[in-house]
Amino acid sequence: MTDITSENGSAKRPFGKSQLVEDLRQLGIKRGDLLHAKVSLRSMGWVEGGARTLLDALVEVLGPEGTLVSDAFIPMYPLPLTHEDAKKISDDNSPTYAGAFCAAMIQHPEMVRSRHPVQKGVAIGAMANDLMLSHSESSPAYEPLQRMALAGGKHLSIDRNVIGVGTTHVAQNLLDLQQKTSPLGINYLDDQGNIALFKINWVGGCAEGFPKFFPLYEKMGGIVARGNVGKADSVITDMKKTLEIELDKLEKDPAFFLCDNPGCIQCRLTWAFSTGKAPVVYLVRFMKSMRQKSPLALWRSVSNWFARRRST
Ligand SMILES: [Zn+2]
Repeated sequence: MTDITSENGSAKRPFGKSQLVEDLRQLGIKRGDLLHAKVSLRSMGWVEGGARTLLDALVEVLGPEGTLVSDAFIPMYPLPLTHEDAKKISDDNSPTYAGAFCAAMIQHPEMVRSRHPVQKGVAIGAMANDLMLSHSESSPAYEPLQRMALAGGKHLSIDRNVIGVGTTHVAQNLLDLQQKTSPLGINYLDDQGNIALFKINWVGGCAEGFPKFFPLYEKMGGIVARGNVGKADSVITDMKKTLEIELDKLEKDPAFFLCDNPGCIQCRLTWAFSTGKAPVVYLVRFMKSMRQKSPLALWRSVSNWFARRRST
């Protein structure tokens, strides 16, 4: 194992696979578990071999009876598609925007990718075929996560500040919460091998608001365990429990997950239950952008504005 010497002279060592296996077992992950993982690799500190080492450690702990799932989703493009965007065809190998760990999962020889054109989860292990191959363009976007919740799945966040525990979007969509979304889509190959256009048919949400559920998970038994994986403060949640907590809360108060930022367009303006007024939201955003400018840039913006007024 490589050693480096830190600034204060003490030896620093990377986390290797055997240490990560020990951390994951200590956290309570067992052989045969059905596990959904969200990973911030950066928060783990120095991992020898990076994402692949963590992936190998998880696969070893879960064993062949277990299943590992992650959200290797892919981007969509504004509709109508431009000539360039129309050439991007979704397939099993489409790169994900979801970070290094999901990218490593896509490279794994035993991975199975979801057949959904956009929310292309990835899985390795006993239930991988079952969860991923039935998830297609006609399925609900978050169907594999809903099925995991019903099958006793656990969610692992490495680190705990990673947004979401895998079930909040399932709850939003089961409750049919309505949001105005931008028209987005991507081309994919249908069952006959023809190019077809897929259009977004689910709602999203602002990442700032989702952590509001955490105190509820704590209070109502959604949290199974806490501990470190590498240096990352990590948490395991019970997917069935977190889904029940979210459904219960959002049924009574659908606006619960909205963030508190008065300039957030998503939360203040796009939901059926958003109560913001567009002029106020845009004024708040304008004021904020002005505050973030240096005095010189601010002076230039103001003098440009006066110059434009004089010329009209
Ligand atoms: Zn927001």
